[in-house]
Amino acid sequence: MAEAAIIDGKAFAASLRARIARQVAALVARDGATPGLAALLVGDDPASRLYVRNKSRALAEAGMGSWQHLMPADATQDAVMAKVAELNDDPKVDGILVQLPLPEQLDAAAVLNTIDPAKDIDGFHVVNVGRLATGQEAMVPCTPLGCLMLLRDRLGELKGLDAVVVGRSNIVGKPMAQLLLAAHCTVTMAHSRTRDLPAVCRRADILVVAVGRPEMVRGDWIKPGAAVLDVGINRVERDGKTRLVGDVAFAEAREVAGAITPVPGGVGPMTIACLLLNTLTAACRRRGLAVPEAA
Ligand code: NDP
Repeated sequence: MAEAAIIDGKAFAASLRARIARQVAALVARDGATPGLAALLVGDDPASRLYVRNKSRALAEAGMGSWQHLMPADATQDAVMAKVAELNDDPKVDGILVQLPLPEQLDAAAVLNTIDPAKDIDGFHVVNVGRLATGQEAMVPCTPLGCLMLLRDRLGELKGLDAVVVGRSNIVGKPMAQLLLAAHCTVTMAHSRTRDLPAVCRRADILVVAVGRPEMVRGDWIKPGAAVLDVGINRVERDGKTRLVGDVAFAEAREVAGAITPVPGGVGPMTIACLLLNTLTAACRRRGLAVPEAA
């Protein structure tokens, strides 16, 4: 069998970002107000700082505003919720992003549920979770939205396909399953207590893996011809060097799958592109304008 096609998330994300930049320019020309996102970072975790900086840079490149709000690691629940409330009321802010993880003393769910659902760019507010689950207009979490766009681009119609999502986090696995269900796939969610995971994965026409375990999914877990989306980002030491690998053993999987995302350069770039898309979507909705087509 021929090697799997590589799903080039980096190239797809670049063209999506260019399209968003054009739509932002048109919106600004029409409306005057620049769409913008406020990011709230509590504490000084270096990885979180880097993520927020990268997101701000991407927003700027797309012609959108971004504001970083930094709070100390020992910030109280009340202080963080008050900051979110302030951003909810700020008319120039279209989207609010609370960088996770939050320091341990904070109740992250309570903070996320303080965000105005219309400004909840990550789609983590229970209202948006519920809207997605019930088929109503929602803000959709960025990583699964990016995965869905890649799948639609590669496969076209998804109706009737068997989809297996490995991992059931609120950020990736659960919303991914909801999106695939809404696209009329037959969805199985697998997790750490699933019996005979390789056999479950082997049923999948679409296999989405978001686990956080380097190269856990082996080539012989994959149905020949399947589309494999590897969400995992794991840092491993190899030959004295640090490398990024996914949750899927890429070289083996490529021999069997029909199409597969690489790590890096697959799902990762789509997450940031979808953050821009969601910010633009929120800005259009707040202004009562047509929302750009998503997936
Ligand atoms: P979580 O740790 O929140 O969830 C991991 C899930 O994997 C859990 O549901 C867990 O099951 C399941 N799991 C763990 N071990 C196994 C196992 N041995 N067999 C089957 N299932 C298992 O992770 P996230 O969803 O936040 O992230 C997953 C990965 O995706 C990470 O590598 C993360 O870095 C990456 N990521 C990448 C993004 C991107 O932009 N590309 C964005 C977000 C995340 P259980 O619930 O039973 O414990």
